[in-house]
Amino acid sequence: MNDCRAAVITAHNQPLTIERVPIPDLEPGALLVKIAASTLCGTDVHRWHGPLGDGDSLPIITGHEPCGYIEEINGERTDILGQPVKRGDRIVWSYVACGSCYYCSVALQPCICPGRASWGHNRSDQYPYLLGSCAEYMYVPPPCLIIKVPEEVSSASAAASACAYRTVMHGFDRLGAIKSNETVVIQGSGPLGNFATAVAKDHGAKKVLVIGAPAARLEVTRRMGADAVLNLEEVTDTNDRRQWVHDHTEGRGGDVVIQVANNMAVPEGLTFLRGGGRYLNIGAGGKANIAVERLPQEMTLVTVRSAEPRHWLQAIDFLASRRDRFPFEAMITARYDLEHVNDALQAMASYRVVKAVIGFN
Ligand SMILES: [Zn+2]
Ligand SMILES: [Zn+2]
Repeated sequence: MNDCRAAVITAHNQPLTIERVPIPDLEPGALLVKIAASTLCGTDVHRWHGPLGDGDSLPIITGHEPCGYIEEINGERTDILGQPVKRGDRIVWSYVACGSCYYCSVALQPCICPGRASWGHNRSDQYPYLLGSCAEYMYVPPPCLIIKVPEEVSSASAAASACAYRTVMHGFDRLGAIKSNETVVIQGSGPLGNFATAVAKDHGAKKVLVIGAPAARLEVTRRMGADAVLNLEEVTDTNDRRQWVHDHTEGRGGDVVIQVANNMAVPEGLTFLRGGGRYLNIGAGGKANIAVERLPQEMTLVTVRSAEPRHWLQAIDFLASRRDRFPFEAMITARYDLEHVNDALQAMASYRVVKAVIGFN
């Protein structure tokens, strides 16, 4: 075995091709993982449509949400909890920051390390080739932290924890405690919005209100515990949406508003927030201008990018320990094999599915 199949972007906006990509030699401490599931994310769609800001150049193996079985380890490795890992263990693994720049060593904000490595945007014709998750195998560089996936968490849900869910965990981490009298408003009913709904309920919010679309996604949102949902396609006037939030919050607005849709949702979202409230901005893409003079008084704005290794662990632990309370599997709404990766990306691009998964077994 010296190569494997992978779904490669060779030209933006063109169908991906299934190519054979070399399996690299492992550096000391590196792993080779046989992919069990790779979930797709909005970022994969954006990167397929055109180059993103981080300077990706083609060809690229798409996908950055992997879960898989250890096939090979060069040397001894332990997981994030200090337990040894072995061939056959099912794992997810963190991104890697440089560890020595200002952001890593002084500010302790490794997510904005300029030297940070992530997946799904490295050239597949350069060593170590296999750094995208829509492939039969993936290379895990030595500094990555390893998180074992417990039996009760599906490979698809674990894969989704490798981007969508751990980013939500990071957001709540930086937001601080949700008090039992607080109402959380969520803008977006995709995988992040639905997972955030569960986390907000779990963290003790009095009420969780979700604004999103289409109806099929909002149905999942309800199952994740939302107290009320508003369909953007039915209520198209921003004033009516603001009124809906205020009707649910004694006229004040939400104590916390979480944006997991797109930057374009931010100006409207700020009108959902009460004075002194907290706004958590996660969803990327799109552009918007904010009128500073119209900001709520004394508000707090929190933004997060990606996540730190502990958030991968928190997401996996949440999936395992809250599985009886929330129907996480309802978020994985469409399964494809590698050959149908283009169908999967199209389904994500048109919001027909909440989360598409490429499954290998
Ligand atoms: Zn992602
Ligand atoms: Zn760094």
